[in-house]
Amino acid sequence: MTTAAGAGDDTAGLPPAPEVVQIEVGLLQNFCEILWCPETRAAAVVDPAWEVDRLLREAERLELKIELALITHTHNDHIEGVDELCAKTGAAVVVNPREAARVSAPGRTLTDAVDGRDIAIGRRGVRALETRGHTVGGTCYLADGYVVTGDVLFVGGCGRTDFQGGDTAAMWQSLQRLMRLPEETRVYPGHNYGETATSTIGHETRTNRFLRCATFDEFRALREQKRKA
Ligand SMILES: [Zn+2]
Repeated sequence: MTTAAGAGDDTAGLPPAPEVVQIEVGLLQNFCEILWCPETRAAAVVDPAWEVDRLLREAERLELKIELALITHTHNDHIEGVDELCAKTGAAVVVNPREAARVSAPGRTLTDAVDGRDIAIGRRGVRALETRGHTVGGTCYLADGYVVTGDVLFVGGCGRTDFQGGDTAAMWQSLQRLMRLPEETRVYPGHNYGETATSTIGHETRTNRFLRCATFDEFRALREQKRKA
């Protein structure tokens, strides 16, 4: 938990970061990530979807054992490979409790991705950050040096808030929280919508029009006028 350093410092006491491999899958430019521990070869797949065979081949190439599926949110384009991945690897699912019903199934282990909880991947780990706005239980996964942002923050954009469970005010708060991370923190978004596959918090803070809004009203007007992602 992050209580020792108080609110506003989500990085305090983070475990050592897993290695990360980013893989683009499917027809909607979705990104999956494989996070792994070089000491134990334990691995987690973020948002397994569309091309599970490819994800498994990559894990095999790296000689990894996939133990977890980390879910950023439960839109179908992010979870449609969970069943296949879990059936083939025995991986447990980590998902926010507000969205757990959308991925629950008999025989599957579900772990709550509650805010501030550290999730071990071998001897490395990531921290769940509840970042609502795109969905009711949207979760980013923060490591020491990078953050996997799902459909909350994209390179040059942010997630839509007009789907079921969307909340523009919550999205604003979530983005403000991400902006408080160290500026060198690398951003791994849920889709390849930007000019580059990854970015940093500092670059996004300076260039992303959604993060450059000075007030919530300005942000809301911009978010509601642009319908993408
Ligand atoms: Zn989504």
